[in-house]
Amino acid sequence: MDQKGYLMSGLTFLLIIPVFLLMAVFVDMVHTGSETQSLGVQSDVTFYTAKDIEGNIPILTEKILQKTTDNVVKTGIPLTDSRNAIKSSLQEEMNQLSERYGNSGNINVTCRIWSVNPTSDPFKIEVNSTVYVQKGNVAHNEHISQNVSIIDSNYPIQDPLPFIKCKNYGKMTNTSTKICYGSSLASLLKVKHLKNANIYENATSPLFIKKCPYDPYINHGKSLHFVVLKNCIDNGYFHESSDGSCFLCRLEGKAVCYHYGFETFIVPSNSSDSRLMYAPCSIEHVIFDDYPYSGKGIVYYSNKSNYFKLFLDNGHRQKYGLPKY
Ligand SMILES: [Zn+2]
Ligand SMILES: [Zn+2]
Repeated sequence: MDQKGYLMSGLTFLLIIPVFLLMAVFVDMVHTGSETQSLGVQSDVTFYTAKDIEGNIPILTEKILQKTTDNVVKTGIPLTDSRNAIKSSLQEEMNQLSERYGNSGNINVTCRIWSVNPTSDPFKIEVNSTVYVQKGNVAHNEHISQNVSIIDSNYPIQDPLPFIKCKNYGKMTNTSTKICYGSSLASLLKVKHLKNANIYENATSPLFIKKCPYDPYINHGKSLHFVVLKNCIDNGYFHESSDGSCFLCRLEGKAVCYHYGFETFIVPSNSSDSRLMYAPCSIEHVIFDDYPYSGKGIVYYSNKSNYFKLFLDNGHRQKYGLPKY
């Protein structure tokens, strides 16, 4: 009996061990659970702060692009390195923003802007950055590449190129939608000894960069009475172009560059002269290039005795679906 009783208590002991083990695990789970919860709150804070910083980058970039361009337009002085200038301005803004976050939430925030580049879409600028957010023993680190629009109607951006190119050739004015060249453009073209440069007395071109919705572009010329072309000109649209310079190079005063860019029409003032002679080509990057070439006149609209003309070479006529000569 005694021996059996001894055996029983031995078995009981063996059975109790798993109970203790289970209890130990449960206690540990409760402990770990609360730790996970607090880590969860911290990682939420770091994650959402990083997202917030990330969301601010495009808005601040657009503001900087607008302000930088306004300054170039006002002075007519090109930037020597637009990519670096915009990158530095953006870095300053991000430093201030990071500091504000740090001060308010006992949180460590840094945002490093690595580069500002043209993209395959000429109406967008690429911004590359790293956002780092740390609170307690949780950190969030993210490399981000964002494409920022230059045609957001909340931050309209002016075409800086004409203001740089015509700076020393006379007064230009701008209405709310158009650049009016006065005599400046004709003077610039006369210096280059181009025939019929006087066609560009009082010429106009679009002030703000807007993307033409009439795609494919051949619809401009294929439409009845060139109505799409006239509408495009009246609205002041820009077109994608592998010849015309990209936005960042425009800020440096370049009419052409090796990036994918855009182009717009420079429109001579209407006249009572219906003759279709040759004159400097009405495409902005051609006119502002070092060696502009000519195009033949085409009447895209007329009323009574007023003729509205563009002068286009065969390459651009083909692009916009206009008859070749
Ligand atoms: Zn168009
Ligand atoms: Zn470029």
